[in-house]
Amino acid sequence: METNPALAGVRCTACDATFDASEVAGRCPSCDGVLDVTYDFDALDLARETFADRSTRSQWRYRELLPFAPPDAVSIEEGGTPLVPVPSLAAEFGVAAVYVKDEGRNPTGAIDDRGQSVAVTAAKRAGATDVALASTGDDGQSAAAYAGRAGLDSHTFVPSRAGFTNKAMVNVHGGDMSVVEGRIGDAASAFADAVADRDDWHPVQALSTPYAHEGLKTAYAEIVEALDWETPDRVLYPTGRGAGLHAFHKAARELDAVGLTDGLPKLYAAQAEGCAPIVRAFEEHRDGHEPWENPDTICGRIEIPDPAGSALALDAIRATDGGAVAAPDAEILEGATSLASDAGLEVGASSGSPVAAAYALAERGDLDADDVVVLVNAGAGSKDDDILRSHLMSKGI
Ligand SMILES: [Zn+2]
Repeated sequence: METNPALAGVRCTACDATFDASEVAGRCPSCDGVLDVTYDFDALDLARETFADRSTRSQWRYRELLPFAPPDAVSIEEGGTPLVPVPSLAAEFGVAAVYVKDEGRNPTGAIDDRGQSVAVTAAKRAGATDVALASTGDDGQSAAAYAGRAGLDSHTFVPSRAGFTNKAMVNVHGGDMSVVEGRIGDAASAFADAVADRDDWHPVQALSTPYAHEGLKTAYAEIVEALDWETPDRVLYPTGRGAGLHAFHKAARELDAVGLTDGLPKLYAAQAEGCAPIVRAFEEHRDGHEPWENPDTICGRIEIPDPAGSALALDAIRATDGGAVAAPDAEILEGATSLASDAGLEVGASSGSPVAAAYALAERGDLDADDVVVLVNAGAGSKDDDILRSHLMSKGI
């Protein structure tokens, strides 16, 4: 299978050790840190016109920023999602423009498809027969879909609270699923116990492999290309594990490095007040999080009490002069349902958090009149229809 000729290797984000990409599949063998894919960008000759001439709308349009070559990629045409303007929110916030990057329009309805396309491709390259992960739901559904397409077996550990659609579709895609009583920490423990006996299970969870978060980068590349290669002022991301913020930060730096963009957006973590370890660490000026003791939010996708990417997300936020905002569930659900009723957009419950965070920034006077603000919808609203409808009932509707 072909790799990107600019692929240099993988590097540990914690200890800076470097490894041959073909020899390491999971975390850093030296310190268990998160590994990032690295490239020799001097080997690339990229211009904005390069992309204008490409017909593919899938994420493999940005193949120079991905480790593998498209003919061999395990792809279901993920990516190519729209950047939808929401003028009503721009007027409300008093900014130049607000957009929603609508990742709900991916093959399984979540941004995770970008990551699983790359991670499952890596697993197939490595000769894996099985892929495995612990999941709050969306990435498990996605992994099952991509493993099925690649002819691999998938093993997904989800907490009992994961959404019905996620659980049903893991099975529909032919995946093996363990439903673990409790929350994501319980599923992660069960997964760790199971994988300890199975060295043939290839990890595909974001940040457990260099490749899943690598795929998330392409969402940012699409945002800037849709804005005619102008860097947005602020990007707000529904944040659980921290992988998405790290991926967007990496993408922004790489696009700058190859000369396609000029400058980084201010990156923001949007969390739920009932589980906000990254917001708390940001406010307390710490480099990493303290595990959240009693997570309690209806927003299952971002209920990650012990996020593996907290240090990376905090670095992304601080390096870009961004921020971190936690909102109550009621405001998050109001953000999601108001986008549906006022702008026609179906966003997942957890992805109401960037909307609620943007309201908080506007109220504090932290937004500028000429700002271009991007809110990331990480997953489709239809997967959370019961939660969103219940929010209306709480208002007597
Ligand atoms: Zn390391």
